Amino acid sequence: MSIRCEQSPDEVSRVVRCWQRGGGSVGLVPTMGALHEGHLSLVRASVAECERTVVSIFLNPTQFSPGEDLERYPRRLEEDCRVLGEAGADLVFCPAEQTMYPPGFCTYVVQEGLPERLCGAFRPGHFRGVLTVVMKLFQVAPAQRAYFGRKDFQQSVLIRRMAEDLNVPVEVRVMPTVREKDGLAMSSRNEYLTAEQRRQAVCLYEALAAARRLFRKGERSSERLLGKMREVVAGFPAARAQYVEIVDPDTLQPVRQVGEDSVGALAVCLGEVRLIDNMPFGECPDIFLGRDS
Ligand code: AMP
Repeated sequence: MSIRCEQSPDEVSRVVRCWQRGGGSVGLVPTMGALHEGHLSLVRASVAECERTVVSIFLNPTQFSPGEDLERYPRRLEEDCRVLGEAGADLVFCPAEQTMYPPGFCTYVVQEGLPERLCGAFRPGHFRGVLTVVMKLFQVAPAQRAYFGRKDFQQSVLIRRMAEDLNVPVEVRVMPTVREKDGLAMSSRNEYLTAEQRRQAVCLYEALAAARRLFRKGERSSERLLGKMREVVAGFPAARAQYVEIVDPDTLQPVRQVGEDSVGALAVCLGEVRLIDNMPFGECPDIFLGRDS
């Protein structure tokens, strides 16, 4: 049976409220489409934990700066709907751009401090766009739980903060990063990589894993752990590090002494393709596709 795909926010709100009146819990999984196993892991978590699951597919223009990859971002709604049906989702919300941002739209969610760190320093306005669209999705589909990937670590921290600060009655669930067998975090942007760039894209994971190994041997100096991460990336000639940081998981401020909950995070450009990754130094429940655990 094919999954229901709905463009109208009013209709999605009606359906969600109707499910809730019936006593069922609802999970929301916001995405920009071009779905892969990382997205599907969120959908499966929602299906397991909630009676109903709504997945939004919306390529949100306000989180892209001019010159970024909005135009070439992969789009395949039909295929996405098929895999969502198989994964057990109940409803796809796929609004048109003009529906989300009609003429005259001028209200945004602006957070202070946190969006200036990490990726935000290199993508001005990005998190304003992300938080605005996620807040709108929370209004349209007022789910009890919303599912986000740890892969976009800063995004998950900001969304949690926004929900708390603005009293949104939603439980923000942040799920493990799904990785390819060699460790590359799954991302719709991996499709842009040439074969050689793909081989070298493993540098993000290798850098994080090397720093973690040093940490487990007792190293606690962020300077030395950062040095190791930079050294690993420098060993991949196609890769150019945009930032390499070790931060506090709540404030996103750099730490001097690294603890279990500190997070290593980096952004690397391979040609025109910008990839990000992160990992905590303590327990890390990442999922590796195709690896025997
Ligand atoms: P996007 O379509 O890139 O906006 O991603 C939609 C959601 O999927 C976000 O919450 C992402 O953090 C999450 N996501 C993307 N890639 C992965 C991954 N490799 N593992 C887990 N979650 C992911």
